[in-house]
Amino acid sequence: MGEQGVRSTKKAAKRATGAAAETEVPRPAKQSGKPTKRSSKPAKQESHLAMVRRARRINRELAEVYPYAHPELDFRNPFELLVATVLSAQTTDLRVNQTTPALFAAYPTPEDMAAAVPEKLEEIIRPTGFFRAKARSLMGLSAALRDDFGGEVPGRLSDLVKLPGVGRKTANVVLGNAFGVPGITVDTHFGRLVRRWKWTEQEDPEKVEAEIAAIFPKSEWTMLSHRVVFHGRRICHSRKPACGACPIAALCPAYGEGETDPEKAKKLLKYEMGGYPGQRLSPPPDYPGSPAPPLGAG
Ligand code: SF4
Repeated sequence: MGEQGVRSTKKAAKRATGAAAETEVPRPAKQSGKPTKRSSKPAKQESHLAMVRRARRINRELAEVYPYAHPELDFRNPFELLVATVLSAQTTDLRVNQTTPALFAAYPTPEDMAAAVPEKLEEIIRPTGFFRAKARSLMGLSAALRDDFGGEVPGRLSDLVKLPGVGRKTANVVLGNAFGVPGITVDTHFGRLVRRWKWTEQEDPEKVEAEIAAIFPKSEWTMLSHRVVFHGRRICHSRKPACGACPIAALCPAYGEGETDPEKAKKLLKYEMGGYPGQRLSPPPDYPGSPAPPLGAG
C-alpha cells in the first residue's frame, strides 16, 4: 500500500510555489490588462469535443502546478484512511489529522475500535464535530470489518459502500489511495470546480462522477481528483476564487467570478501557495509546504 501518485519534479515544484511568490499569471486570451467582469453577451456554444480538449488541457496544467497533489489525510494503512475519511465529513482535513494520532493509538485495529467504550471514542473524536454520529459509524464499520471481512478493509466498491457511514465518495478515496484502484472523488470542491469549468452541469455527485469519468482515461481519475481538490482548496475557493492568481485562468469560463487583481488575488491563496502550512502533520517527502501543527499547538 502506498499513497498513489505523489510525484514531483524540481521544475514543476518551482512553478507551483512560484504561483504564490510571483504574479506572472497567464491571462485569458481576450483580456486587455484591466480586471474584467464576465461579458453579458451570450458566449458562443462550445462543442463537446472542444470542451473535452479544454478539460484535458486543464488537467495537464494542474499536473504542472500541483505535481505533489496527494490525499491530505494522514494515514498508514487502508483502515486508517477509511476512518479518517469518515471523520472528514463537515470538517477540515487538518482537524482530522490533529485528531487521529490519539485515535489510532487507542484503537489501532477494527477489532479494537469495534470494542470501544462509546463515550471514550466520542471524547477523542469530539474536535471533528458530529462526534456521536461519527462514533456510531466508526464502531459499526469496524464491527462489519471484523465480522464480515476478517478484520481487513475490502478493496471493492460494492463491499465498501455496504459499510455503515461509507458512501461512494469515501469508498473512492479509499480505493484510489489505499488500493491503487482508479476512482473519481466528488466532494464539494470537485463538484464546484467542474461546474465552473463547464465540464458538467450535473449537481448530483453520482452523475457528476459518471460525466467526468467519460472525459478522462481511467488512469487519470485518482490524480485528477487530487489536483482539482488542491486547486479548489488553494486558489478556486467557493466564495472568493483568486482568479487574478490562477494559472488556468485562460482556460476557465468562470474567470472573473472572483478577484481578478493579481495583488489582491495573491492574498487569497491558501496553504503552501499562500506561504502557510498544509493540512498534513506528516506530508509526503516532496511536498513543498510545511507540516501542520498538532492539536493544541495553535
Ligand atoms: S473561477 Fe477563477 S480561480 Fe477558479 S479556475 Fe476559474 S479563473 Fe481560476
